[in-house]
Amino acid sequence: MPVGEWDAVLVGGGVMSATLAVLLAEVRPDWRIAVLERLDDAGQESSAGWNNAGTGHAGLCEFNYTPQRPDGTVDPAGAVRVAEQFAASLVFWGRLVERGVLGPPEAFVRSVPHVGLGQGTDGVAYLRARFEALRGHPLFADLEFSDDPGVLASWLPLVLAGRTDGEPVAATRAAQGTDVDYGVLTRRLLAALRERGGEVRLRTEVTSLRRRDGRWELAVRDRASGGRRRLRARWVFVGAGGGTLPLLQSARVPEVRRYGGFPISGRFLRTERPELVAAHRAKAYGSAAPGAPPISVPHLDLRVVDGRESLLFGPFAAFSPRFLTRGRRSDLARSVRLGNLPVLLASARDNRSLIAHLVRQVTAPPSTRMAALRRFVPTARDEDWTLVAAGQRVQVLKETGGRGTLVGFGTEVVTSAGGSLAGLLGASPGASTAVAAMLDVLAACFPAQADEWRPRLAGLVPPPTPEEVARARRVLGLAPVRPAVAP
Ligand SMILES: Cc1cc2nc3c(=O)[nH]c(=O)nc-3n(C[C@H](O)[C@H](O)[C@H](O)COP(=O)(O)OP(=O)(O)OC[C@H]3O[C@@H](n4cnc5c(N)ncnc54)[C@H](O)[C@@H]3O)c2cc1C
Repeated sequence: MPVGEWDAVLVGGGVMSATLAVLLAEVRPDWRIAVLERLDDAGQESSAGWNNAGTGHAGLCEFNYTPQRPDGTVDPAGAVRVAEQFAASLVFWGRLVERGVLGPPEAFVRSVPHVGLGQGTDGVAYLRARFEALRGHPLFADLEFSDDPGVLASWLPLVLAGRTDGEPVAATRAAQGTDVDYGVLTRRLLAALRERGGEVRLRTEVTSLRRRDGRWELAVRDRASGGRRRLRARWVFVGAGGGTLPLLQSARVPEVRRYGGFPISGRFLRTERPELVAAHRAKAYGSAAPGAPPISVPHLDLRVVDGRESLLFGPFAAFSPRFLTRGRRSDLARSVRLGNLPVLLASARDNRSLIAHLVRQVTAPPSTRMAALRRFVPTARDEDWTLVAAGQRVQVLKETGGRGTLVGFGTEVVTSAGGSLAGLLGASPGASTAVAAMLDVLAACFPAQADEWRPRLAGLVPPPTPEEVARARRVLGLAPVRPAVAP
């Protein structure tokens, strides 16, 4: 095969492409596979340790997966779905660690209990109903509920300290929760790809994509030398995070003609003060403010990045017109086309509460952020916490039923040209569900190979039965799931 010809090119070196590349190399070891990344290293954008909250989203504590029905009961389906997706990720990582290709797992995943925090009479009633809806499911076997101040103080010393207002508080706790450094994981996965003969090209930016003579032609720029060249591939995946929509637009993919993108940056309050970190050994999620989007659910997280422990509280939305943290100021303006202008306008019209929320967050003085933190940590002192920037999300806007809607919750796999091109749009639940999302990409693009590939894929991602999950947790050094004693 001449130089520049590839069977598969994956654009972007984030956790999505890295996961997909390893899956693809497993089912097609004979393929020439390349991952192209514009930055100096992989896993530096949304997948970077500090650019996301590192939660292994498994529905254990996030209320946005479990809406309350009008009769007060809770629908558990969304939480069960994301729990199954995360279980697939755990099983995949476990198998790779067993094969000795991911290195020591403690560098990218560790046990950190996940706590759901209910505040106020309604918050506590909701949490109790949520607990009742989930407790019978095997993936939630260790979920515990308590409104006993003594128990709560042992689970959440920092959150309970200094509470004098008598507000009802309750919590659920799942010791099986995890904190994940998706940046380290990404680089480990790409190292595994290299060992299998795949190529990872850094400082290589894809500037456009074109379909030509039954192949995809990628124009690339070497960011070190400034040199330009072209690559050809039979199959392309665009996993470029915030860079995905512009590239699909450049490829004139009809499926995204009416899609728009709106960037929202995340910021967190962070502390490394040892007494505070020692008093909060959990990820505690609360309820989003009325009208606020699911991505704004407040949470106080124990994080471990580069071996250092800290607490993060947020996220707080901020605005930047860039689609990537290291993108261009012109990204938003350049994404506006005649085809998507009506959707952008309809989205502005139909998402007023979200826009109002954003404006409030962007213009909020520091005291507002500290007030939000004090809802979680009443004793929080200004001098202990610093505001830090996290990653950039591009919320996809599209038209659904005549309304401009925001693909705020859930990712969307777009395929085009008979499945020879796929792209991942949307931001949540994100990195946690990379394995499930990338298996969807393979299924959508290669339906004819499904039967042939199934056994190999099942060797790497076996169905996440309780036994498989227990095995993966053992291999990954995570706390075993101990069924909770009925209250
Ligand atoms: C504030 C915040 C908090 C989050 N918290 C969580 C969480 O707790 N748990 C969770 O599971 N998920 C979380 N997420 C979501 C998660 O971070 C993302 O879903 C995930 O990292 C996306 O991975 P990716 O590979 O698609 O994108 P990225 O990691 O952004 O990777 C895309 C890569 O493509 C490269 N690229 C872009 N354009 C080009 C181009 N033209 N040519 C070559 N390379 C290109 C970029 O440099 C980048 O390295 C959070 C996100 C944010 C912003």
